[in-house]
Amino acid sequence: MPEFGSDSSFPTEEPVCIGIDLGTTHSLVSVFRDGKPELISNAHGDKLTPSIVGVLQDGQIVVGSAARELRVTAPERCAWVFKRYMGQERKLKLGDKEFTPHELSSLVLQSLRDDAAAQLNTEITDAVITVPAYFNDHQRTATRLAGEMAGLNVRRMINEPTAAALVYGFHAREEEKNLCVIDLGGGTFDVTVMEVFEGTLEIRATAGESMLGGEDFTDRMVSAVLSGEDTQLELAELQQPLRVSRLRGECEKAKRLLSKEESCKIRLPDQDGNFAEKPKTYRLTRADFSRMCDPLMQRIAGPIARALRDAELDPKDIDDVILVGGSTRMPVLRDFVVDYFGKPPIIDHDPDEVVALGAAVQAALIGQDAAVDDMVMTDVCPFTLGVEVVKEFGGHMQDGYFKPVLHRNCTIPISREEVFSTVAANQTNVTLRVFQGDARKVADNTALGELEVKGLPPGPAGSPIYVRFTYDLSGVLEVEAYAPGGERFRTVLTNHVHQLSPAQIEEAKRRIDALKFYPRDDLDNQKLARFAERMLGELHPSQRQQLDEALDIYEDAMARSDREHFASAKDTLLMVLSSLGLDHEDH
Ligand code: AMP
Repeated sequence: MPEFGSDSSFPTEEPVCIGIDLGTTHSLVSVFRDGKPELISNAHGDKLTPSIVGVLQDGQIVVGSAARELRVTAPERCAWVFKRYMGQERKLKLGDKEFTPHELSSLVLQSLRDDAAAQLNTEITDAVITVPAYFNDHQRTATRLAGEMAGLNVRRMINEPTAAALVYGFHAREEEKNLCVIDLGGGTFDVTVMEVFEGTLEIRATAGESMLGGEDFTDRMVSAVLSGEDTQLELAELQQPLRVSRLRGECEKAKRLLSKEESCKIRLPDQDGNFAEKPKTYRLTRADFSRMCDPLMQRIAGPIARALRDAELDPKDIDDVILVGGSTRMPVLRDFVVDYFGKPPIIDHDPDEVVALGAAVQAALIGQDAAVDDMVMTDVCPFTLGVEVVKEFGGHMQDGYFKPVLHRNCTIPISREEVFSTVAANQTNVTLRVFQGDARKVADNTALGELEVKGLPPGPAGSPIYVRFTYDLSGVLEVEAYAPGGERFRTVLTNHVHQLSPAQIEEAKRRIDALKFYPRDDLDNQKLARFAERMLGELHPSQRQQLDEALDIYEDAMARSDREHFASAKDTLLMVLSSLGLDHEDH
């Protein structure tokens, strides 16, 4: 790990802009330094920080691997995969506290920002944050808000596959190729088709699903194990949360193992979530698992075909397929690529790391770093965006129809105006309802919000109303509408987080600031305690007592400030763990 000192190569007058991959299961932070992108390690020395937030008994917040340990024994005090709910109004309960998905994301961002500040030895105010290409306007706005709440000036939000392509483009500027980036993370799936030529990266089309990822593959395995007992996953989760939480942990391990091995055994916890000394097991082969995942693979094929169609390319026209996201390690996905494109994927970079590295390249482009001055990138808007219109059928008016203003996969930034008309004479108001999607009727598309256009000048039915959609480089939509000679109205779209006023954002920030984070320097110690607690649940009752006692002494020592006493309690705990064959670095 290189040492970053205050005398490093950062110009002091320019704020350092970090790159952040805010992932469903893991997040990473990066920086562009000395002509190249680098990852920054967290307080534990890891590059991957689990996107998990936990609340300790005493109300302190833990983020990352300490929260992951806590989740096994106290899932009710932890939240994970909340990226899936970004932009939704729902609240997630952690113990007696409630958080919105963007508040939880802001806690992860804050923790990454602190890690970067500690490693780079400088204050961090600016960031580029990556989002799945298929994130809609609500989800993007929620991400930006999470950044603001974490005290970050979000310079740009960039699509994850675009970030991956930037790394590819950074290293292969001279190439001339059609690329397809397949990004299957923990909770989202994106596919992007692009062209690289002479340092220019041109995104041609992107498609995906924001509710499909590695967690669904794990869920299929958990369901398969449970269905042997005719139990449904949702029901089991309600009735035996600890058992399902432990079983999911075992299935997650098995899924990863099946990326290397042909078969594996899954240990089965009992009804209370404990493992017997010789637990029952469930044997699963890679081939069986692949078969189980067939319905998920069919969902993956759809967006790939759509993106290729939009880019007017056939699978054979793609020169390189690049894989991004931890779930692309699954052989079922790699076999699919060979079948579909007739060639194996390129695996130059660690699929977990490439998006964060790309965010740092984007930060360098924003900062006009000399190392990227010959690179140009163009991106697209992944959705069709438009408004609701009324249609006339033989003198009868029927509302609920969708009229596009921006077509999917148009190059951004873009600003486009369309003319609509009033339906009645002397109409004074119009409620413009904005939707995203490709369906003919708005009921089948996603509602993004509304814009009230008031004070229209008197006139006959059919008088013009101009509607302008502007989609910026971060993928955020602004809608403007006006009648000739009338006042101009702009979004703020209603019914999502955009609605928050600056005062409300300040209030949300204060609420987050008031939370007490568990001290960063002690996070490793906290993680060890949670690990030992988790292992207690896995041990046979006859082996528990010694570890139980060592853990009691350790937790008591953590609460006091006697360094010597703590060091000896920690040694004892590590010794007991090791005598039981449990090395916490392996887990
Ligand atoms: P990401 O959101 O990109 O961090 O992706 C994390 C997802 O990748 C999780 O669902 C993991 O289960 C999955 N994953 C990570 N490593 C492997 C592996 N070796 N085999 C299969 N899935 C993996």
